[in-house]
Amino acid sequence: MTTRVRFAPSPTGQLHVGNARTALLNALFCRREAGTFILRFDDTDAERSREEFARAIAADLEWMGIGWQLLVRQSDRIERYKAAFARLVQGGVVYPCYETQDELEFKRRRLLARRQPPLYDRAALSLSAAARAALQAEGRVPYWRLKLPAAEIAWEDLVRGPTRIRADSMSDPILIRADGTFLYMLPSTVDDIELGVTHVIRGEDHVPNTAVQIVLCQALGGTPPHYAHVPLLTDRAGQGLSKRLGSLTLASLRTEGIEPMALNAFLATLGTGIALRPALSLDDLANDFELGRLAGAAAKFDDEQLRRFNERLVHEMSYDQVAPKLKALGLERADEAFWFAVRDNLHRIGDAAYWHEVCFGNIDVDRDKEGFTAQAAALLPPEPWTAATWSDWVTRLKSTTGRRGRDLFQPLRCALTGRTDGPELKALLPLIGRAKAQQRLQGTGS
Ligand code: GLU
Repeated sequence: MTTRVRFAPSPTGQLHVGNARTALLNALFCRREAGTFILRFDDTDAERSREEFARAIAADLEWMGIGWQLLVRQSDRIERYKAAFARLVQGGVVYPCYETQDELEFKRRRLLARRQPPLYDRAALSLSAAARAALQAEGRVPYWRLKLPAAEIAWEDLVRGPTRIRADSMSDPILIRADGTFLYMLPSTVDDIELGVTHVIRGEDHVPNTAVQIVLCQALGGTPPHYAHVPLLTDRAGQGLSKRLGSLTLASLRTEGIEPMALNAFLATLGTGIALRPALSLDDLANDFELGRLAGAAAKFDDEQLRRFNERLVHEMSYDQVAPKLKALGLERADEAFWFAVRDNLHRIGDAAYWHEVCFGNIDVDRDKEGFTAQAAALLPPEPWTAATWSDWVTRLKSTTGRRGRDLFQPLRCALTGRTDGPELKALLPLIGRAKAQQRLQGTGS
């Protein structure tokens, strides 16, 4: 059977780093197995789901380089969930309940006050037919719960190993609300069966859901997929992600200038013990990928480390790799010489825009007041300029003015680049060219 995985975001907000990691792990596993990647929008919550979030999620996945072979929306599949639900009613594994929210909340508080787990007491299960009829006559419309078996539910988790959950440690889950809308549990199981999902890879916060989904799957006559529950991301100290980190969206990282392959390599190695190293493609990352390596170790997410790694990647980028990105930024004259002149000074590729202006456009420059840069302008060597021009010029400047070190270089840098630090002037000077250099040094142009 060919491998089929699914990434199933709810389009109720933007993708953040935790979701992105789940998507990536699914994509890498899928690539290794030459499988099918299904993007499924869990959009049964009509009030909170928005088309613009679905579009933004798809764009984020594309930005990461994650493609999908099949796109499914749960809102298109409601009839299938209804049919599955009817089969569960027929099979006698679901039961109608009539409590109001307030009544349920009251029961919950009472149990908590007695220091008991706030599990549903199954009161509705013991209602007689007459009692049910009376409630219905009162105008109460039932919501429905799945009756969990009094058994242990066990599976061989591909990350956690043998996993067991006692079903009586959980409340019977609600599958359908009184207004007829479905909660997460049933649609997800129906889709996993009907779309032939073979592997469900997701965060370990879903472990209890898996127990329920295995029961549901079996009740519907399906074979449960393999499950892999990965430890959730934590902060650097091993605590749960703070609000700031937990809500770090892909959109914000992208705007900040994080490269998709920096994020991918970073997320793929978190909690695996594999050393973080630059990767050129998802295939490259998929080669090292093994679900079993995600076991145990906390996946510590440190956004500062990501930024540093991103910077390192930018510094190592070849011209071929970066050329399309420079073009997309509108840096038309950014050739190979330009890239090698500036890349070591960039935090992100977008910073190249300023140096493009320095070399080929106009900038505000800072001139010294003592006439030194005007003197330097007069001593500029004639063209053509080569890699040696800088040192020829500097040698002449030293002997003519007696200046050295900072006194020599800082006014030149400020006048030529408008900044007090940046790429080596030796590499920038030939790109700036004689005419522009002269104007800036003389104070007659920008
Ligand atoms: N929509 C669910 C979520 O975002 C999907 C969970 C799953 O079944 O993988 O948590």
